[in-house]
Amino acid sequence: MTRPILFRGATILPGGGDWAPRAGQDLLLEHGRIAEPGTPAPEGAEVLEASHLLLLPAFANAHTHSPEALARGRAPMARLDAWLAAAYADGQDAMDAARIRRAVLLCAAEAIRGGAVRVTDHFRQIPPTVASVAAAAAAWAESGMRARVAMMLRDLPSPGAGFTPPGTAQALEVAGAVLRAGIAGAEIGLGPSAPQRCSDALLEGVAALARTEHAFVHLHLCETAKDAADIRARFGEDPVAALDRRGLSGPAVEYAHCVHLGDAELERMAASGTLMVHNPLANLRLGSGIAPVGRALARGVRLAIGSDGADSNDTQDMLEAAKLALLLPRAGRPDAEWPDPAEVLGMATGGAALAPGAAADVIAFDLRAPAFAEAGPEEIAPRLLLAARPRDLLHVIGAGAWLLRERELVSPALREAAP
Ligand SMILES: [Zn+2]
Repeated sequence: MTRPILFRGATILPGGGDWAPRAGQDLLLEHGRIAEPGTPAPEGAEVLEASHLLLLPAFANAHTHSPEALARGRAPMARLDAWLAAAYADGQDAMDAARIRRAVLLCAAEAIRGGAVRVTDHFRQIPPTVASVAAAAAAWAESGMRARVAMMLRDLPSPGAGFTPPGTAQALEVAGAVLRAGIAGAEIGLGPSAPQRCSDALLEGVAALARTEHAFVHLHLCETAKDAADIRARFGEDPVAALDRRGLSGPAVEYAHCVHLGDAELERMAASGTLMVHNPLANLRLGSGIAPVGRALARGVRLAIGSDGADSNDTQDMLEAAKLALLLPRAGRPDAEWPDPAEVLGMATGGAALAPGAAADVIAFDLRAPAFAEAGPEEIAPRLLLAARPRDLLHVIGAGAWLLRERELVSPALREAAP
């Protein structure tokens, strides 16, 4: 059992759309949840004087690929397709359990140091196997992060890629097996790589399996202009309509990137409740473009932020990804489409709030850091995104358990993986 934790006299950013700071607040974390305000500290609780702490909901990294933690910095001048061929050229597609664990722990160490406690790992191995997904899930559980692992699937070849994808039947067989295997340590979903890398039969088969097994589906969509043109040419209609028609939309479906989507496509996503995962740093790194985040927000699309894999970012730092989400639209989108700090914080925290009953996923920044010097209340949220760095993050707590304490990773495995 984790010991209850009481922060006394902290400054709190509640989240869930409310990013106005409240000073002098107590926050009790008990049984992995946020307690009702005013609940007395139970016997044995750890009580921390917190007048120098800024508490807010932890970040959720909504899109990464853990194998890339072992392949950073590759093809630094390439766009997506040429970069992909380099990124997985050193055996990252066929890792043994020890190497999978190493990659996941490296991702987790950096993610926690950047304030994330939840992660979605769009996990690529070719061919996909139940054992590799189980190894990734076990490593995420060991890290202390709460993970969702979407097994990457494809059955069409990619230009320049040094592999032969499995056949459709084989891909669907392993997709069914991974959902029925009872894998522990993470929520398991299906991750068709992208429409241009999957046949119709695979896309439709994934949709049917996900419905029967109540699994989430996570895929790349229209990351580059070429992806968007290829998908439109193949389906003869807009990519979101094409996925809708194949059952790949709705609240349990997530599209990563969405850089090259128009207003009609965004409206369709809003209507179906499909999540858009914005990966600003990877889009910049690979020259893919600036996603229409402001237009998506204005139309009511659900939005989250991902770091993307550690080879197209090249970090797992959500604070950095959030800052880019705030600033990148200013390089090429009209002023009216710039998301504001509150919107970006909402996306980076996955809509979480420090509300009674919510999971006790809490991060604590040091208000004595230069980033917050003489900050007025209205400046706290903007300073968090614009000025604060991971070194200003003192504590990270996931489901009530310490993951980072006084800037030190708590898990010996993480400290060993990423000293
Ligand atoms: Zn990706």
